[in-house]
Amino acid sequence: MNRVSRSRNVLIEGIPMTAWQQNYPRADLAHLPTPLEPMPRLRQALGARAPLYVKRDDCTGLATGGNKVRQLEFYLGEALAQGADRLLITGAVQSNYVRTAAGAAAKLGLACTVQIEERVKEVDALYRESGNVLLEQLLGADIHYFPEGEDEVGADASIEALAAAARAAGERPYVIHLSESPRPLGALGYVVAAAELMAQAAAMDMDVGTVVLASGSAVTHAGMLVGLRALGHDGIRVEGGCVRRAAELQAPRVLRVVRQVEKLIGAEGVVSDDDVHVNDTVLGGGYGKIHASTREAMTMGARLEGLLLDPVYSAKALAAAIAWIREHDPRRAVVFVHTGGLPSLFAYGRKIFGE
Ligand SMILES: *Cc1c(COP(=O)(O)O)cnc(C)c1O
Repeated sequence: MNRVSRSRNVLIEGIPMTAWQQNYPRADLAHLPTPLEPMPRLRQALGARAPLYVKRDDCTGLATGGNKVRQLEFYLGEALAQGADRLLITGAVQSNYVRTAAGAAAKLGLACTVQIEERVKEVDALYRESGNVLLEQLLGADIHYFPEGEDEVGADASIEALAAAARAAGERPYVIHLSESPRPLGALGYVVAAAELMAQAAAMDMDVGTVVLASGSAVTHAGMLVGLRALGHDGIRVEGGCVRRAAELQAPRVLRVVRQVEKLIGAEGVVSDDDVHVNDTVLGGGYGKIHASTREAMTMGARLEGLLLDPVYSAKALAAAIAWIREHDPRRAVVFVHTGGLPSLFAYGRKIFGE
């Protein structure tokens, strides 16, 4: 069975292979390309001059999809190339990353250990047990808990201890870390996504001015930004809606990841220091907290375009797109990247309505 395909990189839906892709084995996990669709009713409701589009990365397929599936193709590619038989990953209680990693492990025949961090305080049983957690159990992951949700380094140390125990038991573990890594392989999935998006835009004769996405670990943001610049699209702004931390912390984080990604693909310096844009007005009360702008975006997306946005990530990113359009009334097309997150809606339950 050919689970790691280098041939997957030979032609990415018509995009010629670039040299760097040969260096990174890639597991076949995502349904690609994802659709690029207009949002005419949202455009009309906002009175926007610019055409609005959504890049449907919620439709990457695996275990309800989302942006992490693109990222996991590169981590799992490396894991399989190393002969790993157990995947370990750490994340928040309602982490979509952890859920899709459990799905990837199941699909590729690896055992999976997930470490769940208590990142959002004062949560109820629904939050702890439904949504992504329910799906991780269904996908057969071994679940561990880590009490301190804001200690990235501690969480990584704890997952390393679990990996060491697996190794001692004769397994070959592969760990996906949470904290900033010198090799953010997952961002390569968004370098590829940038190429995919621009090929679609060209075929649709579309003039993209702005790409708006959620900026959390910054892997998605950095990958898209480096991808666009490496392809020579210098005039497209990438706007990150902060979902995890304030702009003064997020912008330097994005830039650090950008430098790592540039190194991975041999494109040092394609992004300039002042090319990182984040908006933290959409962060509201912090990670996982629903803000008025979150609820507005969630409702507009659902009722105008039939898009299901989650309150932690994708609704905050759409809120950033809405804020950008209202403030700047751009002329060139705005592309909102829907990064998924559907299952956590069920963990929030009626809280999404403020009840
Ligand atoms: C993880 C996640 C993000 C943020 O992506 P990063 O690469 O961590 O910045 C956005 N949306 C959803 C639904 C996610 O699960």
